[in-house]
Amino acid sequence: TKPLHVIGGGLAGSEAAWQAANAGVPVILHEMRPVRGTDAHKTDGLAELVCSNSFRSDDAQANAVGLLHAEMRLAGSLIMASADTNQVPAGGALAVDRDGFSAAVTAKLQSHPLINIVREEMAGLPPEDWHQAIIATGPLTAPSLAEAIAQKTGADALAFFDAIAPIVHFDTIDMDICWFQSRYDKIGPGGTGQDYINCPMDKPQYEAFVQALIDGGKTEFKQWEGTPYFDGCLPIEIMAERGAETLRHGPMKPMGLTNAHNPSVKAYAVVQLRQDNALGTLYNMVGFQTKLKHAEQVRIFRTIPGLENADFARLGGLHRNTYINSPTLLDDTLQLTGRDGLRFAGQITGCEGYVESAAIGLLAGRFAAAELLGGSASAPPVTTAFGALLNHITGGHIVSEDEPGKRSFQPMNINFGLFPPVEAPKSEGKRLRGKDKIVAKRHAITARALADCRAWLGLSEGAQAAE
Ligand code: FAD
Repeated sequence: TKPLHVIGGGLAGSEAAWQAANAGVPVILHEMRPVRGTDAHKTDGLAELVCSNSFRSDDAQANAVGLLHAEMRLAGSLIMASADTNQVPAGGALAVDRDGFSAAVTAKLQSHPLINIVREEMAGLPPEDWHQAIIATGPLTAPSLAEAIAQKTGADALAFFDAIAPIVHFDTIDMDICWFQSRYDKIGPGGTGQDYINCPMDKPQYEAFVQALIDGGKTEFKQWEGTPYFDGCLPIEIMAERGAETLRHGPMKPMGLTNAHNPSVKAYAVVQLRQDNALGTLYNMVGFQTKLKHAEQVRIFRTIPGLENADFARLGGLHRNTYINSPTLLDDTLQLTGRDGLRFAGQITGCEGYVESAAIGLLAGRFAAAELLGGSASAPPVTTAFGALLNHITGGHIVSEDEPGKRSFQPMNINFGLFPPVEAPKSEGKRLRGKDKIVAKRHAITARALADCRAWLGLSEGAQAAE
Protein backbone atom coordinates (compact mmCIF):
# COMPACT_ATOMS: atom_id res chain seq x y z
CA THR A 1 0.00 0.00 0.00
CA LYS A 2 1.25 3.49 -0.85
CA PRO A 3 1.84 5.74 2.19
CA LEU A 4 -0.38 8.53 3.42
CA HIS A 5 1.49 11.77 4.09
CA VAL A 6 0.09 13.83 6.97
CA ILE A 7 1.42 17.37 7.30
CA GLY A 8 1.19 18.77 10.83
CA GLY A 9 1.28 16.71 14.03
CA GLY A 10 -1.28 18.72 16.01
CA LEU A 11 -4.69 17.58 17.20
CA ALA A 12 -5.97 16.79 13.71
CA GLY A 13 -2.79 15.40 12.14
CA SER A 14 -2.07 13.07 15.08
CA GLU A 15 -5.58 11.62 14.95
CA ALA A 16 -5.52 11.31 11.14
CA ALA A 17 -2.19 9.43 11.26
CA TRP A 18 -3.51 7.08 13.97
CA GLN A 19 -6.75 6.26 12.17
CA ALA A 20 -5.03 5.55 8.85
CA ALA A 21 -2.26 3.44 10.42
CA ASN A 22 -4.82 1.43 12.39
CA ALA A 23 -6.64 0.74 9.14
CA GLY A 24 -3.38 -0.79 7.84
CA VAL A 25 -1.96 2.13 5.83
CA PRO A 26 1.68 3.26 6.24
CA VAL A 27 1.84 6.89 7.34
CA ILE A 28 4.56 9.54 7.10
CA LEU A 29 3.80 12.33 9.56
CA HIS A 30 5.63 15.61 8.82
CA GLU A 31 5.81 17.95 11.83
CA MET A 32 7.93 21.11 11.68
CA ARG A 33 8.50 21.57 15.41
CA PRO A 34 11.20 21.79 16.80
CA VAL A 35 12.88 22.72 13.47
CA ARG A 36 10.51 25.66 13.23
CA GLY A 37 8.11 26.84 15.96
CA THR A 38 4.82 28.74 15.93
CA ASP A 39 3.81 31.81 17.94
CA ALA A 40 1.69 29.70 20.31
CA HIS A 41 3.31 26.26 20.65
CA LYS A 42 5.93 25.91 23.42
CA THR A 43 7.08 22.28 23.13
CA ASP A 44 7.99 19.82 20.42
CA GLY A 45 5.35 17.29 21.55
CA LEU A 46 2.65 16.16 19.16
CA ALA A 47 -0.93 17.32 19.84
CA GLU A 48 0.22 20.17 22.07
CA LEU A 49 -2.67 22.11 23.62
CA VAL A 50 -1.74 25.75 23.03
CA CYS A 51 -4.09 27.32 25.55
CA SER A 52 -6.77 25.83 27.82
CA ASN A 53 -6.42 22.20 28.98
CA SER A 54 -10.15 21.52 28.58
CA PHE A 55 -11.98 19.39 26.03
CA ARG A 56 -15.21 20.93 27.37
CA SER A 57 -18.32 19.02 28.47
CA ASP A 58 -18.18 15.22 28.55
CA ASP A 59 -21.97 14.86 28.74
CA ALA A 60 -22.90 12.79 25.67
CA GLN A 61 -26.63 13.05 26.30
CA ALA A 62 -27.18 16.77 26.68
CA ASN A 63 -24.14 18.46 25.15
CA ALA A 64 -23.00 18.51 21.51
CA VAL A 65 -19.26 18.39 22.25
CA GLY A 66 -19.86 15.58 24.78
CA LEU A 67 -21.62 13.71 21.99
CA LEU A 68 -18.63 14.26 19.70
CA HIS A 69 -16.38 12.79 22.44
CA ALA A 70 -18.61 9.70 22.54
CA GLU A 71 -18.58 9.26 18.75
CA MET A 72 -14.79 9.65 18.68
CA ARG A 73 -14.41 7.02 21.40
CA LEU A 74 -16.59 4.66 19.33
CA ALA A 75 -14.24 5.27 16.39
CA GLY A 76 -11.15 4.36 18.45
CA SER A 77 -9.80 7.92 18.73
CA LEU A 78 -6.22 8.30 19.97
CA ILE A 79 -6.91 11.87 21.12
CA MET A 80 -9.86 10.73 23.28
CA ALA A 81 -8.02 7.68 24.67
CA SER A 82 -5.04 9.88 25.61
CA ALA A 83 -7.37 12.49 27.16
CA ASP A 84 -9.19 9.82 29.17
CA THR A 85 -5.97 8.41 30.62
CA ASN A 86 -4.63 11.89 31.49
CA GLN A 87 -7.80 13.35 32.95
CA VAL A 88 -7.67 15.90 35.78
CA PRO A 89 -10.72 16.77 37.92
CA ALA A 90 -12.98 19.35 36.21
CA GLY A 91 -16.60 18.61 37.19
CA GLY A 92 -18.61 17.60 34.14
CA ALA A 93 -15.88 18.74 31.77
CA LEU A 94 -13.06 16.63 30.38
CA ALA A 95 -9.80 18.40 31.25
CA VAL A 96 -6.35 16.90 30.89
CA ASP A 97 -2.81 17.16 32.17
CA ARG A 98 -1.47 18.83 29.03
CA ASP A 99 2.06 17.42 29.21
CA GLY A 100 0.90 13.89 30.02
CA PHE A 101 -1.67 14.09 27.23
CA SER A 102 0.80 15.27 24.57
CA ALA A 103 3.41 12.73 25.76
CA ALA A 104 0.85 9.91 25.49
CA VAL A 105 -0.13 10.89 21.93
CA THR A 106 3.54 11.24 20.92
CA ALA A 107 4.50 7.86 22.42
CA LYS A 108 1.61 6.00 20.76
CA LEU A 109 2.41 7.46 17.35
CA GLN A 110 6.17 6.92 17.72
CA SER A 111 5.73 3.28 18.66
CA HIS A 112 3.19 2.45 15.93
CA PRO A 113 4.91 0.14 13.43
CA LEU A 114 3.22 1.81 10.44
CA ILE A 115 3.98 5.44 11.41
CA ASN A 116 7.16 7.29 10.56
CA ILE A 117 7.48 10.78 12.10
CA VAL A 118 9.67 13.24 10.18
CA ARG A 119 10.56 16.56 11.83
CA GLU A 120 10.58 18.97 8.88
CA GLU A 121 8.74 22.00 7.60
CA MET A 122 6.71 21.49 4.43
CA ALA A 123 7.33 24.75 2.60
CA GLY A 124 4.91 24.09 -0.25
CA LEU A 125 2.01 21.89 -1.30
CA PRO A 126 2.63 18.14 -1.20
CA PRO A 127 4.21 16.99 -4.49
CA GLU A 128 1.76 15.62 -7.09
CA ASP A 129 3.32 12.15 -6.90
CA TRP A 130 2.31 11.77 -3.24
CA HIS A 131 -0.74 9.68 -3.82
CA GLN A 132 -2.64 10.73 -0.71
CA ALA A 133 -1.87 13.63 1.63
CA ILE A 134 -3.62 15.53 4.39
CA ILE A 135 -2.77 19.14 5.27
CA ALA A 136 -3.46 19.58 9.00
CA THR A 137 -1.21 22.54 9.77
CA GLY A 138 -3.70 24.42 11.92
CA PRO A 139 -4.53 28.06 12.63
CA LEU A 140 -0.83 28.98 12.67
CA THR A 141 0.21 27.28 9.42
CA ALA A 142 3.78 28.28 8.53
CA PRO A 143 3.86 31.21 6.04
CA SER A 144 5.36 29.52 2.97
CA LEU A 145 2.83 26.68 3.03
CA ALA A 146 0.02 29.20 3.62
CA GLU A 147 1.27 31.14 0.60
CA ALA A 148 1.25 27.95 -1.54
CA ILE A 149 -2.30 27.15 -0.39
CA ALA A 150 -3.42 30.68 -1.26
CA GLN A 151 -1.87 30.34 -4.73
CA LYS A 152 -3.62 27.03 -5.34
CA THR A 153 -7.04 28.02 -3.96
CA GLY A 154 -7.10 31.74 -4.81
CA ALA A 155 -6.03 34.37 -2.30
CA ASP A 156 -9.65 35.21 -1.33
CA ALA A 157 -10.17 31.60 -0.27
CA LEU A 158 -7.62 31.76 2.55
CA ALA A 159 -8.25 33.89 5.63
CA PHE A 160 -5.62 34.85 8.21
CA PHE A 161 -8.03 36.21 10.80
CA ASP A 162 -11.55 35.34 11.75
CA ALA A 163 -13.87 38.21 12.58
CA ILE A 164 -16.84 36.37 13.93
CA ALA A 165 -20.22 37.60 15.05
CA PRO A 166 -22.30 35.72 17.64
CA ILE A 167 -24.77 33.08 16.47
CA VAL A 168 -28.08 32.49 18.22
CA HIS A 169 -30.30 29.38 18.28
CA PHE A 170 -33.45 30.40 16.42
CA ASP A 171 -35.79 28.72 18.89
CA THR A 172 -34.51 30.98 21.69
CA ILE A 173 -35.39 34.25 19.90
CA ASP A 174 -38.63 35.87 21.10
CA MET A 175 -40.64 36.31 17.90
CA ASP A 176 -43.39 38.12 19.84
CA ILE A 177 -40.92 41.02 19.98
CA CYS A 178 -38.86 40.47 16.80
CA TRP A 179 -40.14 40.15 13.26
CA PHE A 180 -38.97 38.85 9.89
CA GLN A 181 -38.26 41.51 7.25
CA SER A 182 -35.49 42.43 4.81
CA ARG A 183 -34.60 46.11 4.66
CA TYR A 184 -37.01 47.84 2.22
CA ASP A 185 -38.57 44.36 1.75
CA LYS A 186 -35.80 43.57 -0.70
CA ILE A 187 -36.43 40.17 -2.25
CA GLY A 188 -33.44 37.90 -1.56
CA PRO A 189 -32.63 34.32 -2.49
CA GLY A 190 -35.51 33.09 -0.31
CA GLY A 191 -37.90 35.08 -2.56
CA THR A 192 -39.86 36.49 0.38
CA GLY A 193 -38.38 39.86 1.38
CA GLN A 194 -38.23 38.41 4.90
CA ASP A 195 -34.65 37.19 5.16
CA TYR A 196 -33.73 38.95 8.43
CA ILE A 197 -34.95 38.82 12.01
CA ASN A 198 -35.19 42.35 13.45
CA CYS A 199 -34.90 43.36 17.11
CA PRO A 200 -36.20 46.90 17.78
CA MET A 201 -34.72 49.39 20.25
CA ASP A 202 -36.06 52.71 21.46
CA LYS A 203 -33.72 55.67 22.22
CA PRO A 204 -33.01 54.93 25.91
CA GLN A 205 -32.42 51.24 25.13
CA TYR A 206 -30.02 52.14 22.31
CA GLU A 207 -28.07 54.64 24.42
CA ALA A 208 -27.73 52.19 27.31
CA PHE A 209 -26.62 49.50 24.88
CA VAL A 210 -23.93 51.69 23.29
CA GLN A 211 -22.63 52.61 26.75
CA ALA A 212 -22.57 48.93 27.79
CA LEU A 213 -20.48 48.09 24.71
CA ILE A 214 -18.00 50.84 25.59
CA ASP A 215 -17.79 49.82 29.26
CA GLY A 216 -17.79 46.03 28.69
CA GLY A 217 -14.66 43.97 29.40
CA LYS A 218 -12.60 43.21 26.28
CA THR A 219 -10.11 40.50 25.38
CA GLU A 220 -6.70 41.86 24.43
CA PHE A 221 -4.95 40.85 21.23
CA LYS A 222 -1.81 38.78 21.75
CA GLN A 223 1.27 40.79 20.85
CA TRP A 224 2.00 38.62 17.80
CA GLU A 225 -1.51 38.94 16.45
CA GLY A 226 -1.25 42.64 15.63
CA THR A 227 -4.53 44.58 15.39
CA PRO A 228 -6.30 43.18 12.37
CA TYR A 229 -9.08 45.69 11.70
CA PHE A 230 -9.86 45.34 8.03
CA ASP A 231 -12.54 45.13 5.30
CA GLY A 232 -15.10 47.15 7.23
CA CYS A 233 -14.99 44.39 9.87
CA LEU A 234 -14.57 46.74 12.83
CA PRO A 235 -15.51 45.27 16.21
CA ILE A 236 -18.89 46.54 17.36
CA GLU A 237 -17.39 48.14 20.51
CA ILE A 238 -14.84 50.09 18.42
CA MET A 239 -17.71 51.45 16.34
CA ALA A 240 -19.53 52.37 19.57
CA GLU A 241 -16.45 54.28 20.77
CA ARG A 242 -16.41 56.35 17.59
CA GLY A 243 -19.60 58.18 18.55
CA ALA A 244 -23.12 57.69 19.84
CA GLU A 245 -24.63 57.69 16.35
CA THR A 246 -22.08 55.46 14.59
CA LEU A 247 -23.92 52.17 15.12
CA ARG A 248 -27.28 53.73 14.24
CA HIS A 249 -25.81 54.70 10.89
CA GLY A 250 -24.06 51.35 10.53
CA PRO A 251 -25.19 47.81 11.35
CA MET A 252 -27.98 49.02 13.66
CA LYS A 253 -29.66 51.44 11.26
CA PRO A 254 -33.48 51.34 11.51
CA MET A 255 -34.18 52.45 7.92
CA GLY A 256 -36.46 50.42 5.63
CA LEU A 257 -37.96 48.41 8.48
CA THR A 258 -41.46 48.45 9.99
CA ASN A 259 -42.13 46.68 13.28
CA ALA A 260 -44.76 44.06 12.42
CA HIS A 261 -45.97 44.02 16.04
CA ASN A 262 -46.24 47.78 16.32
CA PRO A 263 -46.25 49.41 12.84
CA SER A 264 -46.99 52.95 14.06
CA VAL A 265 -43.86 53.19 16.26
CA LYS A 266 -40.58 53.64 14.42
CA ALA A 267 -37.66 51.82 16.05
CA TYR A 268 -34.74 54.12 16.97
CA ALA A 269 -32.22 51.36 16.16
CA VAL A 270 -32.49 47.74 15.01
CA VAL A 271 -30.28 44.70 15.53
CA GLN A 272 -30.56 42.34 12.56
CA LEU A 273 -29.95 38.59 12.50
CA ARG A 274 -29.48 36.61 9.31
CA GLN A 275 -30.05 32.90 8.74
CA ASP A 276 -26.71 31.13 9.12
CA ASN A 277 -27.35 27.53 8.12
CA ALA A 278 -29.52 25.84 5.56
CA LEU A 279 -31.51 24.12 8.31
CA GLY A 280 -32.69 27.52 9.58
CA THR A 281 -31.81 26.64 13.18
CA LEU A 282 -29.08 29.29 13.59
CA TYR A 283 -29.05 33.06 13.05
CA ASN A 284 -26.00 35.35 13.17
CA MET A 285 -26.00 38.88 14.51
CA VAL A 286 -25.14 40.98 11.46
CA GLY A 287 -22.08 43.22 11.94
CA PHE A 288 -21.55 42.15 15.57
CA GLN A 289 -17.95 40.88 15.36
CA THR A 290 -16.41 41.72 18.72
CA LYS A 291 -13.51 41.42 21.15
CA LEU A 292 -15.82 41.63 24.19
CA LYS A 293 -15.23 38.84 26.70
CA HIS A 294 -17.63 35.93 26.28
CA ALA A 295 -19.48 36.47 29.57
CA GLU A 296 -19.84 40.17 28.73
CA GLN A 297 -21.29 39.33 25.31
CA VAL A 298 -23.95 37.13 26.89
CA ARG A 299 -24.78 39.79 29.49
CA ILE A 300 -24.89 42.73 27.06
CA PHE A 301 -26.51 41.00 24.06
CA ARG A 302 -29.32 39.64 26.26
CA THR A 303 -30.38 43.26 26.86
CA ILE A 304 -31.39 43.44 23.18
CA PRO A 305 -35.20 43.26 22.96
CA GLY A 306 -36.17 39.76 21.80
CA LEU A 307 -32.85 38.22 22.81
CA GLU A 308 -33.50 38.21 26.58
CA ASN A 309 -33.36 34.39 26.65
CA ALA A 310 -31.04 33.92 23.70
CA ASP A 311 -28.93 30.80 23.72
CA PHE A 312 -25.71 31.43 21.81
CA ALA A 313 -24.36 28.66 19.56
CA ARG A 314 -21.17 30.71 19.17
CA LEU A 315 -19.95 33.96 20.65
CA GLY A 316 -18.11 36.62 18.68
CA GLY A 317 -14.36 36.95 18.38
CA LEU A 318 -11.41 38.20 16.37
CA HIS A 319 -8.37 35.92 16.24
CA ARG A 320 -5.36 35.10 14.19
CA ASN A 321 -6.59 32.01 12.33
CA THR A 322 -5.54 30.54 8.99
CA TYR A 323 -8.48 28.75 7.37
CA ILE A 324 -9.76 28.04 3.90
CA ASN A 325 -13.20 28.68 2.44
CA SER A 326 -14.00 24.96 2.67
CA PRO A 327 -17.60 24.98 1.37
CA THR A 328 -16.40 26.14 -2.04
CA LEU A 329 -13.11 24.18 -2.06
CA LEU A 330 -13.66 20.75 -0.48
CA ASP A 331 -15.91 17.82 -1.37
CA ASP A 332 -17.81 15.94 1.33
CA THR A 333 -14.75 13.81 2.08
CA LEU A 334 -12.57 16.90 2.71
CA GLN A 335 -10.78 16.51 -0.64
CA LEU A 336 -9.67 19.60 -2.55
CA THR A 337 -11.62 19.85 -5.81
CA GLY A 338 -9.26 19.55 -8.75
CA ARG A 339 -6.54 17.75 -6.77
CA ASP A 340 -7.45 14.12 -6.13
CA GLY A 341 -5.96 12.68 -2.97
CA LEU A 342 -5.21 16.03 -1.27
CA ARG A 343 -7.33 16.57 1.82
CA PHE A 344 -7.45 19.20 4.56
CA ALA A 345 -8.17 18.52 8.24
CA GLY A 346 -8.39 20.36 11.55
CA GLN A 347 -8.84 24.02 12.25
CA ILE A 348 -7.59 25.03 8.79
CA THR A 349 -10.87 23.63 7.38
CA GLY A 350 -12.91 26.10 9.46
CA CYS A 351 -13.89 24.06 12.48
CA GLU A 352 -13.03 25.51 15.87
CA GLY A 353 -11.56 23.83 18.94
CA TYR A 354 -9.31 20.97 19.98
CA VAL A 355 -12.02 18.30 19.87
CA GLU A 356 -13.53 19.42 16.57
CA SER A 357 -10.06 19.63 14.96
CA ALA A 358 -9.26 16.09 16.11
CA ALA A 359 -12.66 14.84 14.90
CA ILE A 360 -12.08 16.23 11.42
CA GLY A 361 -8.60 14.68 11.47
CA LEU A 362 -10.21 11.37 12.38
CA LEU A 363 -12.54 11.60 9.37
CA ALA A 364 -9.79 12.70 6.94
CA GLY A 365 -7.54 9.83 8.08
CA ARG A 366 -10.33 7.30 7.55
CA PHE A 367 -11.32 8.74 4.15
CA ALA A 368 -7.71 8.70 2.87
CA ALA A 369 -7.10 5.18 4.22
CA ALA A 370 -10.26 3.84 2.57
CA GLU A 371 -9.06 5.12 -0.81
CA LEU A 372 -5.50 3.81 -0.36
CA LEU A 373 -6.95 0.40 0.47
CA GLY A 374 -8.90 0.38 -2.79
CA GLY A 375 -12.31 1.30 -1.39
CA SER A 376 -14.11 4.61 -1.34
CA ALA A 377 -14.63 7.11 1.45
CA SER A 378 -18.13 7.27 2.89
CA ALA A 379 -19.16 10.41 4.77
CA PRO A 380 -20.96 9.96 8.13
CA PRO A 381 -24.69 10.77 8.19
CA VAL A 382 -25.52 14.42 9.00
CA THR A 383 -27.52 13.21 12.02
CA THR A 384 -24.24 12.28 13.78
CA ALA A 385 -21.94 14.84 15.41
CA PHE A 386 -19.25 13.82 12.91
CA GLY A 387 -21.64 14.41 10.02
CA ALA A 388 -23.12 17.65 11.38
CA LEU A 389 -19.63 19.14 11.82
CA LEU A 390 -18.49 17.91 8.40
CA ASN A 391 -21.62 19.36 6.84
CA HIS A 392 -20.90 22.75 8.44
CA ILE A 393 -17.44 22.68 6.84
CA THR A 394 -18.21 21.36 3.39
CA GLY A 395 -21.73 22.65 2.77
CA GLY A 396 -25.01 23.43 4.42
CA HIS A 397 -24.47 27.12 5.13
CA ILE A 398 -26.06 30.14 3.54
CA VAL A 399 -24.08 32.24 1.06
CA SER A 400 -24.67 35.91 1.67
CA GLU A 401 -25.86 37.29 -1.68
CA ASP A 402 -26.79 40.72 -0.41
CA GLU A 403 -23.25 41.48 0.76
CA PRO A 404 -21.18 40.72 -2.33
CA GLY A 405 -17.60 39.74 -1.64
CA LYS A 406 -18.21 39.08 2.05
CA ARG A 407 -17.28 35.61 3.18
CA SER A 408 -20.16 34.01 4.95
CA PHE A 409 -18.27 30.91 6.12
CA GLN A 410 -16.87 31.35 9.61
CA PRO A 411 -15.27 28.86 12.02
CA MET A 412 -17.55 27.25 14.53
CA ASN A 413 -17.62 24.75 17.39
CA ILE A 414 -19.97 21.77 17.24
CA ASN A 415 -23.43 22.70 18.55
CA PHE A 416 -27.00 21.41 18.35
CA GLY A 417 -27.94 23.99 15.72
CA LEU A 418 -25.84 22.04 13.20
CA PHE A 419 -28.04 18.92 13.48
CA PRO A 420 -31.26 18.32 11.55
CA PRO A 421 -34.04 19.24 14.02
CA VAL A 422 -36.19 16.65 15.80
CA GLU A 423 -39.75 16.90 17.09
CA ALA A 424 -39.66 17.23 20.89
CA PRO A 425 -40.90 13.95 22.35
CA LYS A 426 -44.17 14.30 24.28
CA SER A 427 -44.45 13.47 27.98
CA GLU A 428 -47.59 11.53 28.94
CA GLY A 429 -49.22 12.66 25.69
CA LYS A 430 -48.58 16.35 26.44
CA ARG A 431 -46.38 18.75 24.49
CA LEU A 432 -43.36 19.84 26.49
CA ARG A 433 -42.52 23.52 26.93
CA GLY A 434 -39.54 25.74 27.79
CA LYS A 435 -36.48 24.07 29.26
CA ASP A 436 -38.11 20.59 29.33
CA LYS A 437 -38.68 20.83 25.60
CA ILE A 438 -35.06 21.84 24.90
CA VAL A 439 -33.70 19.02 27.10
CA ALA A 440 -36.00 16.43 25.48
CA LYS A 441 -34.96 17.57 21.98
CA ARG A 442 -31.27 17.33 22.89
CA HIS A 443 -31.71 13.81 24.27
CA ALA A 444 -33.54 12.79 21.08
CA ILE A 445 -30.77 14.27 18.89
CA THR A 446 -27.97 12.55 20.83
CA ALA A 447 -29.75 9.15 20.92
CA ARG A 448 -30.32 9.33 17.16
CA ALA A 449 -26.69 10.41 16.61
CA LEU A 450 -25.15 7.57 18.60
CA ALA A 451 -27.33 4.95 16.90
CA ASP A 452 -26.48 6.35 13.45
CA CYS A 453 -22.78 6.64 14.32
CA ARG A 454 -22.66 2.99 15.39
CA ALA A 455 -24.32 1.98 12.14
CA TRP A 456 -21.87 4.12 10.10
CA LEU A 457 -18.91 2.54 11.90
CA GLY A 458 -20.38 -0.94 11.44
CA LEU A 459 -20.58 -1.51 15.22
CA SER A 460 -23.26 -3.51 16.93
CA GLU A 461 -25.28 -1.90 19.74
CA GLY A 462 -23.03 -1.25 22.76
CA ALA A 463 -19.81 -2.22 20.97
CA GLN A 464 -16.68 -0.08 21.10
CA ALA A 465 -14.15 0.05 18.26
CA ALA A 466 -10.90 -1.78 18.90
CA GLU A 467 -7.95 0.49 19.58
P1 FAD B 1 -2.52 22.44 15.58
O1 FAD B 1 -2.86 21.69 16.80
O2 FAD B 1 -2.02 23.84 15.70
O3 FAD B 1 -1.47 21.57 14.76
C1 FAD B 1 -0.87 22.01 13.59
C2 FAD B 1 0.53 21.47 13.55
O4 FAD B 1 1.09 21.73 12.27
C3 FAD B 1 1.46 22.14 14.57
O5 FAD B 1 2.06 21.13 15.32
C4 FAD B 1 2.44 22.93 13.71
O6 FAD B 1 3.73 22.95 14.29
C5 FAD B 1 2.43 22.14 12.42
N1 FAD B 1 2.78 22.90 11.19
C6 FAD B 1 2.34 24.13 10.81
N2 FAD B 1 2.82 24.44 9.59
C7 FAD B 1 3.60 23.38 9.18
C8 FAD B 1 4.35 23.11 8.01
N3 FAD B 1 4.42 23.97 7.00
N4 FAD B 1 5.02 21.93 7.93
C9 FAD B 1 4.97 21.01 8.96
N5 FAD B 1 4.26 21.23 10.09
C10 FAD B 1 3.57 22.41 10.20
N6 FAD B 1 -9.09 25.50 20.95
C11 FAD B 1 -9.68 25.03 22.09
O7 FAD B 1 -10.49 24.09 22.02
N7 FAD B 1 -9.40 25.58 23.30
C12 FAD B 1 -8.50 26.59 23.44
O8 FAD B 1 -8.27 27.05 24.54
C13 FAD B 1 -7.85 27.08 22.26
N8 FAD B 1 -6.95 28.09 22.37
C14 FAD B 1 -6.29 28.52 21.26
C15 FAD B 1 -5.31 29.50 21.41
C16 FAD B 1 -4.60 29.97 20.31
C17 FAD B 1 -3.54 31.01 20.48
C18 FAD B 1 -4.88 29.41 19.02
C19 FAD B 1 -4.12 29.88 17.81
C20 FAD B 1 -5.86 28.45 18.87
C21 FAD B 1 -6.58 27.98 19.98
N9 FAD B 1 -7.59 27.00 19.88
C22 FAD B 1 -8.19 26.51 21.01
C23 FAD B 1 -8.07 26.57 18.57
C24 FAD B 1 -7.67 25.21 18.01
O9 FAD B 1 -8.57 24.27 18.44
C25 FAD B 1 -6.31 24.71 18.28
O10 FAD B 1 -5.45 25.62 17.66
C26 FAD B 1 -6.07 23.28 17.76
O11 FAD B 1 -4.78 22.94 18.18
C27 FAD B 1 -6.19 23.09 16.27
O12 FAD B 1 -5.81 21.78 15.89
P2 FAD B 1 -5.03 21.54 14.51
O13 FAD B 1 -4.58 20.14 14.49
O14 FAD B 1 -5.88 22.00 13.39
O15 FAD B 1 -3.77 22.52 14.57
